[in-house]
Amino acid sequence: MPSAFSIVREPAQLTAAIADWQRQGHRVALVPTMGALHAGHLALVTEGLKHADKVAASIFVNPKQFGPLEDLDRYPRDEAGDAAKLREAGCELLYAPSVATMYPPGFASYVKVAGLPDRLCGAVRPGHFDGVATVVSKLLAASRADVGVFGEKDWQQLAIIRRMAADLDLGTRIIGAGIVRDQDGLALSSRNMYLNPDERGRALALPQSLIAARDALRGGAALAPTLAAAYLALAQAGFLRVDYIELVDEETLTPLDRPEPGARLMAAAVMGTTRLIDNFAV
Ligand code: AMP
Repeated sequence: MPSAFSIVREPAQLTAAIADWQRQGHRVALVPTMGALHAGHLALVTEGLKHADKVAASIFVNPKQFGPLEDLDRYPRDEAGDAAKLREAGCELLYAPSVATMYPPGFASYVKVAGLPDRLCGAVRPGHFDGVATVVSKLLAASRADVGVFGEKDWQQLAIIRRMAADLDLGTRIIGAGIVRDQDGLALSSRNMYLNPDERGRALALPQSLIAARDALRGGAALAPTLAAAYLALAQAGFLRVDYIELVDEETLTPLDRPEPGARLMAAAVMGTTRLIDNFAV
């Protein structure tokens, strides 16, 4: 039986509802999302319930993290469906503010993490991670949640949010949750619904080429030819553009030239009009 569920749209209501829980002695987890929820998002709610007694989620398609040529207008939105899924998963509070509430006229403050956003996705999406850091700092500040849960699918984002929450003394412990994949191995993403059936089939080359590269590296293969083979596999599968395939340190995101503890393979590539990302620990 799902428990009580309410939707609030103003930051003061979020602050009050969570403070109320905390006064009653509950620990509270916040799961920030952009909606169009799938099993990957709901796993974050489940993870939140391992670290807290109450889970709140937010749905906000944040215009500040979309570039001018990106998919802000066509990004999928289904608040009623999302609310039903959240409730079923054990989330009790949804914060769904409007753009005008989050960024009223005169809004002028930004959070910019130095260094970590410069490479990988940040190099191809200028300003994206400033938008992410700004909105997540607002969500954490308004919620004062004990725990914030973020997916490892967006590994660079997770590293940036950890840095920001520590640097700004936000008081929320940041938890990473493992990547949830479709049965065939493609990481779940709200953007997968842009893929037509042919593209969806070809997109599988992304996790497959990373797994092949991971296994080769674990078997002692050299990095350069391993990455070259992964690029080739993606091109042959019909990815129109490969933004990067890199081996990096999972905390600093600096490139590595051989596997070592904390090494992670990260990739981003475009199938049709859809940009997909994925990563695997090596
Ligand atoms: P989004 O709605 O795409 O902004 O994602 C909201 C949160 O869900 C982020 O912390 C993502 O990393 C996380 N997330 C999205 N897809 C997955 C997935 N397949 N597995 C785990 N977490 C995910």
